[in-house]
Amino acid sequence: MTTDTTSGTATGATGRNRPAVLGGAPAFPDGLPLTRVRVPDREGLLGRLAGVLDSGMLTNGPTVRRLEEEAAALMRVPHVVAVSNCTAGLMLVLQAAGVDGRRPVLMPGFTFSATAHAAHWAGGSPLFAEAREQDVTLDPADAEARLKAADSPAALMATHVYGTPCQTEELQRIADAAGVPLVYDAAHGLGSARRGVPVGNFGLAEVFSMSPTKVAVAGEGGLVATRDAALAETLRTARDYGNPGDYDTLFPGLNARMSELHAAVGLTWLAGLPERVAHRGALVAEFARAAAGVPGLRLALPEEGDTSTFKDLTLILDAAEFGLDNRQLAAALKAEGIDTRRYFFPPVHRQKSYAHLGQAEELPRTDRLAASVLTVPLWSHMDAATVRRVADAVVRVQPFAAEVAAALGRV
Ligand SMILES: *Cc1c(COP(=O)(O)O)cnc(C)c1O
Repeated sequence: MTTDTTSGTATGATGRNRPAVLGGAPAFPDGLPLTRVRVPDREGLLGRLAGVLDSGMLTNGPTVRRLEEEAAALMRVPHVVAVSNCTAGLMLVLQAAGVDGRRPVLMPGFTFSATAHAAHWAGGSPLFAEAREQDVTLDPADAEARLKAADSPAALMATHVYGTPCQTEELQRIADAAGVPLVYDAAHGLGSARRGVPVGNFGLAEVFSMSPTKVAVAGEGGLVATRDAALAETLRTARDYGNPGDYDTLFPGLNARMSELHAAVGLTWLAGLPERVAHRGALVAEFARAAAGVPGLRLALPEEGDTSTFKDLTLILDAAEFGLDNRQLAAALKAEGIDTRRYFFPPVHRQKSYAHLGQAEELPRTDRLAASVLTVPLWSHMDAATVRRVADAVVRVQPFAAEVAAALGRV
């Protein structure tokens, strides 16, 4: 490991190397936010926006169509339908897939609340299953067991958590055996790939988010990718109130259209996405090298041969080995000026929204993982030196863990 005079290493106990929480100099005196949004091509975007404004068509225009085509080409999937956001896209896909009657929709407890909310709004009822120890995506074996025990399940959902591709082959087999559609919350996965196949090609449909905390941004927005032409057609009607064009609506749809202005922003972010995803991967590899060998610390990583967008760079702590739990490490990093989040805590099965389901005690592994994760800053234009400095801040706090825990206990 190299010695950096500004940030120090884990080895010394000199004042310079002491964690900021114990009085050392903070790694980022000006602060380091979790995400930082930077428009990739401002001039190009302003030109596109001017074009939209000049056209007088602010919705239902050619820019949305073009975003759909470019996203479909990028994912090598036949159909992409743009929507106002990922949550609405999931609702409409689940509605189209026949979710109704408050039947169970099996999904991970370790996901963002919107996965469950979409199932609820579509007319289903979430049924939560465990996460895999390795990468915190849905555990296929646990999902299969709970699906088999469920009364008339309506669908299986899985989330590519942080951009890590799910166990797509196993999940498809399980969904087929149960006779239910498989729908992916791919909010984090625009640019991910499973064994070389772009995310977007799995299950009945995959739904992406283009909100500002994601890797490809439209301001607000979502994309549904599917190989099913009939589903794509239904979704085009569904996002427009269920109106096929003559105002004699076919079913209760939503206004879930993406505006032309948002599509213009989305196109700007889609250009160069593979390069930005590759850069994020290189930054995570840099972090992994800098933090290698720290007891009780690992990263949420995709399987060998898979590609993650690394929407988040997430640490998984073994508190007994590391000496601090995720909240204590978060407090120590805050003193360094480093912003963090516990993604996802509380897990959805523990949230007040779903207390009535009585599943709060049913996912012990997910509870433990949710209490172990800590997401640290990463963005597409971050440089390697910054990510190393974040890693060094984590590395140098560990040898002081007992002292840090005691100091935090006193505040
Ligand atoms: C952000 C997010 C969503 C919601 O996306 P919106 O576009 O904001 O509706 C859904 N699922 C996951 C896992 C997310 O992170």
